[in-house]
Order: sequence, then C-alpha cells, then structure tokens
Amino acid sequence: MHTRRPDGFSRRRALQALVLAGAATALPKGFAVSPQARRLGVALVGLGGYSRDLLAPALQLTRHCRLAGIVTGSPDKVPAWQAEYGIPDSGVYSYDDMHRIADNPDIDVVYIVTPNHLHKPLTLAAANAGKHVWCEKPMAMDAGEAESMVRACRDNKVQLAIGYRMQHEPNTRRFMAMAQERPFGRIVQLRADAGWFGWRQGADDAWRLDPACGGGAMYDMGVYCVNAARYSTGLEPVAVRAWDETARRDIFAGVDETMRFTLEFPDDVIARCVTSFGRNLNTLHVDCERGWYELSPFQSYDGNVGRASDGTRFPAQLGERPRMQAEQMDQDALAILEGRSPRAPGEEGLRDMRVLDAVFASVRQGNERVRVAG
Ligand code: NAD
Repeated sequence: MHTRRPDGFSRRRALQALVLAGAATALPKGFAVSPQARRLGVALVGLGGYSRDLLAPALQLTRHCRLAGIVTGSPDKVPAWQAEYGIPDSGVYSYDDMHRIADNPDIDVVYIVTPNHLHKPLTLAAANAGKHVWCEKPMAMDAGEAESMVRACRDNKVQLAIGYRMQHEPNTRRFMAMAQERPFGRIVQLRADAGWFGWRQGADDAWRLDPACGGGAMYDMGVYCVNAARYSTGLEPVAVRAWDETARRDIFAGVDETMRFTLEFPDDVIARCVTSFGRNLNTLHVDCERGWYELSPFQSYDGNVGRASDGTRFPAQLGERPRMQAEQMDQDALAILEGRSPRAPGEEGLRDMRVLDAVFASVRQGNERVRVAG
C-alpha cells in the first residue's frame, strides 16, 4: 500500500523518478528498489524503416525501456524525431561523434539498426563507449566480424543481444521447447522458407542490392530460415549445400535474389530452405517420426499461427505489431537489469553467421557440400 499525496504523488512514483534520474545510490538506507523498476535508456542508431515504423513505436509500449537517444547521418530527420519522442539535444548524435555517448549517463543501450555492413564497426564503437549493445540481424557480414563483436562486448563487460524478435514470440518458444520434448518422436526433416517480394526499384533501401552493404535475400531473410532450423531442432548444422537461383540478374546484379539451401544436422536431420526477394514465403514445417507441426506465417510482425498433425492449433500471440518488438526489448532489458544472459546473445548470431559463410562458400564452389565451421 502506498501513501498517496493529494496530487497523486506516491512513494513508489517518487522512487521511480529518483531511479530514472540515475540517483538510486542516493536513496536512504532500507529503501530497496528492484532493478526491474528502472527503465533503460535506449539510443537507436539508424533511423530507417525498421526504427521509424517498428522500434520507436514499440519503445513506447515497453515497461523496462525508454527512447533516450538517436544516432543518424541525416540531420533533417532530427527535428521530427525530437518533437515526436521528446529526445533532448544531449541525446542526438551523428555517426562521427557517436563515441561521445560514453559521457551520457542517460543512455544504457545502443541499438544498431543500420545496413548490415555497419553492424560490426558500430557495435565496436558502442561497446568501447561502455554501452550495452542490441544489434539487428544479420549480426554481421561474416563469422569473423561476429567473433570480433562478441569479443569487444565481452572485453568491455557489456551485453550483446541480437534482434531475433521471433525468439520472443510464444509460438516460436513453444517450437523451441518441442525440440526437447519431442511430442511426435524424433525430428526427421524440416522446411523453412522466408521470402519478401517487397523490394521495389528506386526504393530507399537500395543498399539491399549492394554486396558491399550486405545486400541480398540470404542476409536479409535467409537468416530467419537458418535461425529457425537451429531453434526448431535444438541442433547445430554440420554441413551445407546451396544454390543461387536468382532469376532477375538485371536487378540483382551482385547479390542473390533467391537462394535455396539444405542444412545437414546430426542424426540425419535435414532442413530444406528457400529465401527470396522475388517471392513471398513464410512457412516453418517440422516433420517427425509420428506427425508434424508448422507455423505459417512463422516470421511476420504479428499473426504467426500454426497447427499440428494431431489437431493442435497455435493461435496468434502477443497482439498486433509492434508488440513483438516491445516484448523483445523488454526481455533484453530485463536480462541487463537482472545480470543474466539475453535469450539471443551475440554467440547465437555468430552461429548463424558460420552457416551463412558456408552457404556463400557452397555457391562459390559450384554447390559443393561445405562443412560449417565449429
Ligand atoms: P532502411 O534502409 O529502411 O534504413 C537504413 C537506415 O540506415 C537509413 O536511415 C539510412 O539512412 C541509414 N544508413 C546509415 N548509413 C548508411 C549507408 N552507408 N548506406 C545506406 N543507409 C545508411 O533499412 P531497415 O529496413 O531499417 O534495416 C536496417 C537493419 O534492420 C538491417 O540490418 C535489417 O536487416 C534490420 N531489420 C530487421 C528487421 C526485423 O524484423 N528484425 C526488420 C527490418 C530490418
């Protein structure tokens, strides 16, 4: 029970205000505050489509985060962001002066939401500034970069979490548990298809066609297939074969439009995957000895639903977008506040990058079987 002042100012609210101001250490003795009462200040780096349409609105729904800063190379975007989200001048940075974030106690987490080739340098900059890092998928351009990101965060004693939003979605979490529970016996094979016919010529996100920026369907959507194949089996793939089936080379000159690949897991488990910028694909189907289960769609922002061969239904969870992103950021914030590992740490992204390396190597080697680095 809180003693309420006539103006509604309770002891708990006074406490929250103190904690928010970073003044927890000044509290009188015996005035204990749970770490969860604190909201972490998050700075979004890169104000493109995903930050604008999903992450910033989602931050307004979180219980453990608040939007405290922005890092952008587009000064023209700053006034609208400041006006909409009340971001102070002290929370606005360019890529060139991002290192100054080290001196800003209002920012606890730096969330990298840029084109893929910038994930590594910006993660290193944030970690060296002593801030926790959340980084969008794909984590990096290759496993070597991902390893250096894990190392930089470990050396700076900050957390690194990858923006694998599906790993926070309850139906997906159910599938992860079923990999261990095996309700239909041993998993025999699975199919994971993730495609997006969203790319339009002349669209802002031209970097998605640029190999130097980590463009192409495999980096963008294929990583959902790889991650799903791993979390649905609870196994690590040992080898890969891949076929680049790009049809429109006039548009997709230097990157893959469509990639088909198979992942070999231990115990003869096989995952067959297709990813594409030329087709809408969104199904995860798991075949077991005595039945099957699937989510379709399995990687949408909302409405991920499924069924199983015994009639079980997996109805939509979490509500409409951007609830999934809010859940992801709250869970990752709690991991920081409670001092435990996030659900999808850097090591999780690194394992996927090793698979992507093998996929690209297989294509280069004429669709040969390539072992995944251990
Ligand atoms: P976008 O093209 O809409 O935005 C990219 C932003 O980065 C833009 O604001 C652009 O100005 C900025 N930028 C900075 N340096 C740049 C450079 N050198 N070249 C081009 N742009 C530069 O992209 P997006 O859809 O917001 O994707 C950003 C990241 O988020 C990607 O890594 C993507 O894979 C990831 N993403 C994740 C999800 C998800 O569901 N988890 C969804 C969409 C995007």
